[in-house]
Amino acid sequence: MAEPAAPVVRTSPPADEILIPAHELIELAGKIDAARGGAGYRARYVTKLCQRLRTADGVVSVDGILGLPAGETRLLNAPTGIGKSVIMEVVACWMAAHELVVTIVVPTNADVLKLARAVEQDLDALGVDASATALMSPSAVFEAVRKVVRTRPAWDPNGDWTMDRLGYGCALAAAAETEGSVDGWTPGEEPCTSLQPTGEETAPRRACPWRATCGKFRLARAAVDASVIVTSHANFHSGRLHLPVRDEHALTDRMTVEELVFRRSHLVVIDEIDAFQNNVVSQAARGLVLDRRGSTSTPLHELEAEYVRAAGRINREVESSVRDMVHHSKFLASLYTAALYFGTIGVEGTAGAATGRYWLVPRRWDGLLTAQLYGLTEHEPLTPEMVSGFRSLFPGEEPPQADEPAEFAAVREILATVTEVGSGATRLQDSRERLDELLTERIRDEQARAKAINRLLQRAILDRLRQHLRHFVFDAPHLAAAGVPAAREIAETFGPYSRWRALPNGPLGRLLFAFSHHVDPTGRLPIRLNAAAFGGDPHVYTTTLADITALCRAGTRRAVLGLSATAFFPHAPHHHVHLEPHWWVTDDDPQGVQILPAYVNEQIGDERALLRVSGTEGARRQEALRRLAELLWRTRLEQELRRLADEDPDRHLVLLATTSYDGARAAAEGLVRAGANPRRICLAVRPQDAPDIGDIGADRPDQAGWRELAADRLEEAPGLGVDVLIAPLARVQRGVNIIGAGDRSALGSIWLLVRPVPIIDEPTELVAHVNAHPLAPDANDDVLRDLEHRPADVLDARKQAAGHYFEQIVTSLPYFRTMPRGVQLSVTAEIMNGIVQLVGRARRGGTPATIYLADGAMLDPSGGPTFGTLVRRLRDHWEQTGQLLRMRELYGTTLAEFFRYADDEAKLLA
Ligand code: SF4
Repeated sequence: MAEPAAPVVRTSPPADEILIPAHELIELAGKIDAARGGAGYRARYVTKLCQRLRTADGVVSVDGILGLPAGETRLLNAPTGIGKSVIMEVVACWMAAHELVVTIVVPTNADVLKLARAVEQDLDALGVDASATALMSPSAVFEAVRKVVRTRPAWDPNGDWTMDRLGYGCALAAAAETEGSVDGWTPGEEPCTSLQPTGEETAPRRACPWRATCGKFRLARAAVDASVIVTSHANFHSGRLHLPVRDEHALTDRMTVEELVFRRSHLVVIDEIDAFQNNVVSQAARGLVLDRRGSTSTPLHELEAEYVRAAGRINREVESSVRDMVHHSKFLASLYTAALYFGTIGVEGTAGAATGRYWLVPRRWDGLLTAQLYGLTEHEPLTPEMVSGFRSLFPGEEPPQADEPAEFAAVREILATVTEVGSGATRLQDSRERLDELLTERIRDEQARAKAINRLLQRAILDRLRQHLRHFVFDAPHLAAAGVPAAREIAETFGPYSRWRALPNGPLGRLLFAFSHHVDPTGRLPIRLNAAAFGGDPHVYTTTLADITALCRAGTRRAVLGLSATAFFPHAPHHHVHLEPHWWVTDDDPQGVQILPAYVNEQIGDERALLRVSGTEGARRQEALRRLAELLWRTRLEQELRRLADEDPDRHLVLLATTSYDGARAAAEGLVRAGANPRRICLAVRPQDAPDIGDIGADRPDQAGWRELAADRLEEAPGLGVDVLIAPLARVQRGVNIIGAGDRSALGSIWLLVRPVPIIDEPTELVAHVNAHPLAPDANDDVLRDLEHRPADVLDARKQAAGHYFEQIVTSLPYFRTMPRGVQLSVTAEIMNGIVQLVGRARRGGTPATIYLADGAMLDPSGGPTFGTLVRRLRDHWEQTGQLLRMRELYGTTLAEFFRYADDEAKLLA
């Protein structure tokens, strides 16, 4: 039987500009309403949106035209609930009706299915001869179906539509010759491209012969012809089709979703474009296992074996440099995991407590260690000379200084020998002891000294590893050509040879290295050391999609429309999209938002002090949260619930937002400790830990009778009959609509229990801050503002600005109050951005939102600038950089409420 021909991807002809008359959209929305029946909300929403839409030169009006030129990403910034989803649906139908292709990019796969079904039904009802399809990774299809069948969403209550489009059965199970192959079949994880004949483990892997007709790849085949493609943020920027397709040149098995979308689509609409940018930031890492304790199956071991086999084919210089690198890297990586195992290097930090993964950027502690080794007090400033004096302690870095502290020479010698091969089995332990003796005077506190020694040793080992890997990248092409494929894997992680991208590196002009070690809390998995390189330029990628990426992918520029409620938010490193909004709707509801303090005092000895959560760690932080929830229940929350029940019984739910799942659990424990009935509480848990919908925790002895709900199903909370929902902020602030009666938000008020300050040491945070900085108008380099300069000068200036900022961050002390001012403002902008999104959750259906700030760290000046101070500084900053006016235009009454809070706080503390 002949194999079916591969689907053909045709590049749609270029279009200079997509012009959509507003009145046509309104008419089309009306037609869809009429054809679909029901309440007819589409025309209402589209009319209202068009009436309120503004541009830099005035109002669009219902007679205006929405122009989307090829090569430009245009932003539409409008508050939550204004009808952006409806606009996407109607624009998709308008494009299809005009025989144009459109792709809509939405945050999650659940959004993908919902919108694809809506557009499919609309086109059908309108009698438009065009198709719409969802597009998701084949490996995600099974889970997507399972979720729809389990949760029975309103748009597909029986799951029939989803099963029709996504359901499949694997034919391999029927064709398998051994029972093991059948029993080993895990639905959703079929070996579609990695089949091997039984008993021939070394034979090359093959693709399944049914791939061209199998239902698992139905969506990819449909996307090749559909007029409307709906896909997710993650699939758009890093997905592949996983299906052989033919383009104008050849047959390819490696077409990316990004390429398919830009080849086919005249217009790409990205919903929540700021969340899209943040998704690209968080995906900017490539990782590699450096050592897995007790295993020889790692890329470094493979590289060594292949390299030995290829010995005669490698040139002499490369051979000797790679030999050194491989041996020494293997040694350093296994030295490190052994040290973790035997406890000669300790595990610290809370970031990975639940997952066992701890991120390390070895140079992140340079500032703190310098201060400690030079014996500085908390308020004495670090100087660049001191930092270079500290760096001289590590081999191959800065030269020693004449007036360095007396212990430095001995410390230098210890740190050099600790990383040498053959320095003895107890070298690390001996080094710890010697360092302890040497530094007793400098760092008197025993715990602080132990931590500092730990960090010195980690930096010594890991930074040597980093240097080896960076050097290796230069030799990798030669090795790969000489038949050492493992070299390519390592180089792809750390070098520019990776999956093609228009912008391989950020403004630093290089990848940012980080390490993570994994110490499984249950002890079942072996200790592992991974290296990760963070590359790409998520911010510039997002702003130049329509231009550079479309041109490279499709050979023509395309039009891109980005929608969000918070895409323009200068200084927010994750969510500010570096473009001026082209259209916006002002948030002008005078009753819309209230931001109120809800700080709690507690008696400590003779003094009353604000109860703070942020700034505490580990067990103390958990207890602070329990205590805060307990006192809030006694003093405020119970009354609040009574008030809500009296005034607006349909909105009786209060949301308590924390910054982690563990924190949410601690808050639930605090409420119960204060006497709250656990059956009134719903606790969000990690999706994979969740019992079935809203199970009562009493069934499980470790819980206290509250209800638990998977954090990807929080929309179901209002139906559980609870009054208090506790969830991590990151899970609730975007994309979740907690709707009650009358299609209105069920949230009566929102309580922020923790000041959400991120751990800046996390590589994704560093990437966001360092990459965003040189794009800001205050990046402290004149070249960026001078368009006369050559692009190379601009790139050079950005590199300098980013490098300088990176140094500032890594040499600062690791407390919020000691962070560079720019980082403090950025964290504040992100907090405000998150609160604006939270406000959107509570204002669904036109209801007002009340946000209570409950973490004393936001009001306590002894812990650094208060939240109000930071908001005022950010306001001044926006004013200086000429952005305040635009911010006021976009966020009107919500922003005014932030400023009112900040000014009132200043009066309170005066
Ligand atoms: S492509 Fe082959 S292996 Fe994959 S699901 Fe279909 S039949 Fe099974």
